[in-house]
Amino acid sequence: MQGYFGNFSHQEEHALDFDMPQGTNVCAIRDGVVVLLKEDSNVGGADKKFYNDGNYVLVYHNDGTMANYVYFRQNGVVVKLGDNIKQGDLIGYSGNTGFSSAPHLHLDVCLPYVGKKKTISTKFLLKNQKNEVLKVNQKYTK
Ligand SMILES: [Zn+2]
Repeated sequence: MQGYFGNFSHQEEHALDFDMPQGTNVCAIRDGVVVLLKEDSNVGGADKKFYNDGNYVLVYHNDGTMANYVYFRQNGVVVKLGDNIKQGDLIGYSGNTGFSSAPHLHLDVCLPYVGKKKTISTKFLLKNQKNEVLKVNQKYTK
């Protein structure tokens, strides 16, 4: 529902918003270690005042990048700090907490940073076996 540098809230970042009903399984895109998470929020809406209320999981990958999964439902994170997770592992259930206009998953991949966040472009292995950057308003299946 929103792609890289999207007009609603991704103006300055490589970030993807996936339309999905609340409670949808969110699985890890890569192996990694859970380095930060929040799951206590139960508020959200299409207003920047909710910017810090989104529940999230930050996973560190062994190549130095990190995946940031955002807007889990309250108490909807099933991993713990320090957990080693594998690609495809369930990490939580989607929601609509934080600065979010509708139930969805926000995903960005970033480099470790101080100050301004540095997100990077990522490719996904598609059903046709091609590695591609996902485009907005497209449907992708496993
Ligand atoms: Zn987003």
